Amino acid sequence: MAIFPPAEEHVQAEIKYYIQKKSRLKSLLLFYQAMYRAQRKYIGEVPSIALERIFSGISENDEPILLKNGLQISLAVYQEFMQSLLEDACKYLLPELTTSQSKVLESLLTKTITDCVIAEKIRKPTNLSLPCLQSLLFERQNSLTEKELAVMAQIIRAACQIEYIRIAQQAQTLSLFKNWQQGRCPVCGEKPMLAILRQEDGARILECGLCHTQWPAPRLACVQCGNTNQDSLGFFFVPGQEFRRVYVCNDCKYYLKTIVLKETNRDLIPDLENVVTYFLDNVAQKEGYGYKKLQTEIN
Ligand SMILES: [Zn+2]
Ligand SMILES: [Zn+2]
Repeated sequence: MAIFPPAEEHVQAEIKYYIQKKSRLKSLLLFYQAMYRAQRKYIGEVPSIALERIFSGISENDEPILLKNGLQISLAVYQEFMQSLLEDACKYLLPELTTSQSKVLESLLTKTITDCVIAEKIRKPTNLSLPCLQSLLFERQNSLTEKELAVMAQIIRAACQIEYIRIAQQAQTLSLFKNWQQGRCPVCGEKPMLAILRQEDGARILECGLCHTQWPAPRLACVQCGNTNQDSLGFFFVPGQEFRRVYVCNDCKYYLKTIVLKETNRDLIPDLENVVTYFLDNVAQKEGYGYKKLQTEIN
């Protein structure tokens, strides 16, 4: 079971590796480093909730644990987390802002996190995808630029993640998902961010980008529609990066970025790998693959 948020030394080593390969991603990666640091710090500080009640009676054919009822997240509790992350976000992602402009952003963030419409919306994990948060913010704060909205959305998602990650850690400890066969996260219902093919046995493990639960999925079937006809399944990669594959299903047009661990000798962090492989999402989407079906399904 992978540990999330990853340890500082591990993050540092991975970021060093990526920056050597792709220096233009440096600022974004440093922001992620700050985000993991803040999440590690706050994960132990959130008030505890009755996890036994959440987990009682769950079976693998159920709805994802937190999808049906949502999760009460008080953004005000995470205020300090978000303010400190906003500081790092301005430093790395919005360096062009003047001090007074970042002050404006800070007060908008405070206003947002005490907004009861936002508080109600973020109870549902389906509203926590970056595009959803971004459009939710746009409805309330249309004075912000697209980039500022994207940064604010990322900060709010990072804050909500704390609670989800904690619950996912506990669920994973209880080994609740060994037989989970669905193509969505058993905890929060989000589509998998990435798959890895495990080094020791080649098993396909999916990871959720919100709560970072990992769960197994059969290799020879489409994760979204279950298609097992090998004529309409396949994968592609960019030459020189054979360990980063994109598996596609031509029946439902689903795609899934997949890392073959035995072809790379690193102990990589899937979340960072996801960030540095956005170019593969672009390629897949240009080829007509996308997530549309699954999103309609879980909404
Ligand atoms: Zn999840
Ligand atoms: Zn499919």
